[in-house]
Amino acid sequence: MKIYIAGDRGMVGSALVRRLTGEPGVTVVTRSREKLDLEQQAQVEAFFAAERPEVAIIAAARVGGIYANKTYPAEFIYSNMIVAANAIHAAWKQGTKRLLFLGSSCIYPKHAPQPMPEECLLTSPLEPTNEAYAIAKIAGLKLCQYYRQQHGVLFHSAMPTNLYGPGDNYHLENSHVLPALLRKFHEAKEAGRAEVVAWGTGAPKREFLHVDDLADACAFLLTLENPPDWINVGTGTDVTIKELTETVAEVTGFGGRIVWDASKPDGTPRKLLDVSRLTELGWRARIALREGVARTYAAFLAEQAAGTL
Ligand code: GDP
Repeated sequence: MKIYIAGDRGMVGSALVRRLTGEPGVTVVTRSREKLDLEQQAQVEAFFAAERPEVAIIAAARVGGIYANKTYPAEFIYSNMIVAANAIHAAWKQGTKRLLFLGSSCIYPKHAPQPMPEECLLTSPLEPTNEAYAIAKIAGLKLCQYYRQQHGVLFHSAMPTNLYGPGDNYHLENSHVLPALLRKFHEAKEAGRAEVVAWGTGAPKREFLHVDDLADACAFLLTLENPPDWINVGTGTDVTIKELTETVAEVTGFGGRIVWDASKPDGTPRKLLDVSRLTELGWRARIALREGVARTYAAFLAEQAAGTL
């Protein structure tokens, strides 16, 4: 079985390549951005016509933290919408039987109940800071749902919570909290500094899923005969940002103080996915936060040594 993974250079796509390569009977197909620009419809059509993969996983996306989302909303909505539309339409047209589209938990409303069930989609307004990205991801999910409904193809979606792991973005300002803290603690330890500044109050709660767990969940979803149109993928538990900082400090071996900069925003108080649907189907996350952070730190050190950060 030929599985095409779009976005194989990203954190999610590369985890999918690691997970699926070597699976019995599976041939993984990828294309570099230089060879296949997913924003160009003709190129995407030609690719699907030539390769004719039985399965496609769409993990290609333009992603960024709150700052990037606020600064480049036009790019975020355009790029993510056109990639989803091109890939889904070309896959259907060229006979791909199954497609898994990857989204994000930001598709759910700003004031969704916590934990957030799949059913709260489109029940009230989105978080304004990432609305452009979220709308594109909702469009992708709906494309899959309606191509499945109208054309009978098995196109479905997975909506992961906050992800972390090898290949993450470690930018101090633009990245998400976990990679930012990992880098801050590492650099403070290396420089012998006594304190690290973390943002906000440390009180908000977040859920973190290791990207290898997500890749495993995707492999599981691809075995289901009748998967839901979209499904949440998370750990089902969250931690306070304060607890997270303590874990990252421990893993990196930083022994100094943590100072909280309350002038930085806390963001939403809680963001947790309801994962009961996936649990009932028989999948659960296996990588505990401490172990996942330790694995990520090892990958960070390797990337740093190789000069690829
Ligand atoms: P969010 O989950 O969309 O709110 O985005 P983030 O991952 O950027 O932030 C999550 C929480 O971590 C917020 O309460 C931040 O204030 C807090 N935080 C603490 N230290 C940092 C840091 O160094 N970088 C980032 N990005 N967030 C931090």
